[in-house]
Amino acid sequence: VSSDGLLSVEAARDRVFAAVAGPTPSEVVHLGDALGRVAATAVRSPIDLPPWDNSAMDGYAVRAADVADATDDRPVRLDVVGEVRAGQAPTFEVRRGTAVRIATGAPVPPGADAVVPVELTTPLDPSGRAAGPRGRDATGPLPAGCLVHASVAPGGSIRPAGSDLTVGATILEPGIVLTPATIGLAAGVGVDRLDVHRRPIVGILATGDEVRAPGGDLGPAGIPDANGPGLVAMVAAAGGDPRVLGIAADRLEDVTARICAGLVEGADALIVSGGVSVGPYDVVRAGFETYGTVDLWRVAVQPGKPFAFGTARAPGDDGSDPRRHPTLLFGLPGNPVSTFVTFELFVRPVLRRLGGHRDDDLFRPTDRATLLDPVSKSHGRRGFVRVRVDRDATGTPIRDARGSVQARLAGGAGGQGSHVLSALAVADALAVIPEADDALAAGSDVTIWWLDRA
Ligand code: AMP
Ligand code: MG
Repeated sequence: VSSDGLLSVEAARDRVFAAVAGPTPSEVVHLGDALGRVAATAVRSPIDLPPWDNSAMDGYAVRAADVADATDDRPVRLDVVGEVRAGQAPTFEVRRGTAVRIATGAPVPPGADAVVPVELTTPLDPSGRAAGPRGRDATGPLPAGCLVHASVAPGGSIRPAGSDLTVGATILEPGIVLTPATIGLAAGVGVDRLDVHRRPIVGILATGDEVRAPGGDLGPAGIPDANGPGLVAMVAAAGGDPRVLGIAADRLEDVTARICAGLVEGADALIVSGGVSVGPYDVVRAGFETYGTVDLWRVAVQPGKPFAFGTARAPGDDGSDPRRHPTLLFGLPGNPVSTFVTFELFVRPVLRRLGGHRDDDLFRPTDRATLLDPVSKSHGRRGFVRVRVDRDATGTPIRDARGSVQARLAGGAGGQGSHVLSALAVADALAVIPEADDALAAGSDVTIWWLDRA
């Protein structure tokens, strides 16, 4: 806490994290539902991959020694004794002077130690005449023999068993996010269900007598609800399971009833937007205190004041079950940009911790930027300004000789008000203005936090 009674961003975040019991328990999901989920336990390969030596080419399985002297001028003739297709166990052995036609992905038959690609062969009929052109597709009737026009090294065009993975190899570690590639990996070793963290359940409540559901009549003094749907999307994008608690009027009974509904639903966290100031109609704090304890914090951040945090338990939960953790309560300021920034600072990292992400995967990636516009802000607060970054035609951020990206205030000079949704919507990143700087001149070095680019 600084001399003026403000909590630093880090101190506030530490206090929030101190209330997080740990990641949610695991559940089992099919691979088809696993995209974006977080692995809860390590997964080991139950098989060697490939499970057996297989051919990397369409061609002929041979003994490399038989074709060691083959050249274009002096091709080697082999008898074709059979065929092995993908999905078929080999029924032929490759003896001296023979070959077995083989398809890509088919098991290499016993006796063979190399595959000659079909491009290096000519099929022969029973009389020894060419039965087709050199290197034609390895389709059609099985030829009686073949000419091999080049030598192949032992092991050539064979993918050995276990060359990708050996049985018991770790394919997923706890905290790994399931991507298309890791889902493909799990499927590729025959694993079709995964132990993943349950998505944190997050109740979302907008408040304000003036706040209207989308499509509702605004009347003379209403505004559409930006924060409810915005928070639902932010929670989902952070890996949470959002539960809509609606829009509460600025009345304690309404706020309390909806908070209660969220607690009863088993929410890991509740996010309430608006109504946390100290005005006469700001009843969120009292609503939280009906079920738990909450503190109104003065955090040295702009935007983002006021911010309330606490914990609560559902009615009837006396805390005796150690597996039931208290619900985290977040009271965010109602101005939509403030809601967004405080979510980024204090809620998103916590949702990721709850969701099982690793410690190095809780926060936004940062970068160095040159801020091309001047900015000013309140003394002693850390500013988070919404910026756009210059990009080339491929969408890649343009970097100067020092490696810094070029950032400009989103929405221009008028875009930084905490109510200006239009500027927030086009921002690529948040630029951090240190507490000590009341203003920065154009061209200043800043740190930015990259936001999702959907
Ligand atoms: P409050 O934090 O309740 O004092 O609200 C601060 C400002 O944010 C007021 O101008 C509210 O009208 C506005 N506001 C609060 N909640 C929402 C919401 N859900 N959507 C859009 N604006 C809101
Ligand atoms: Mg309000």
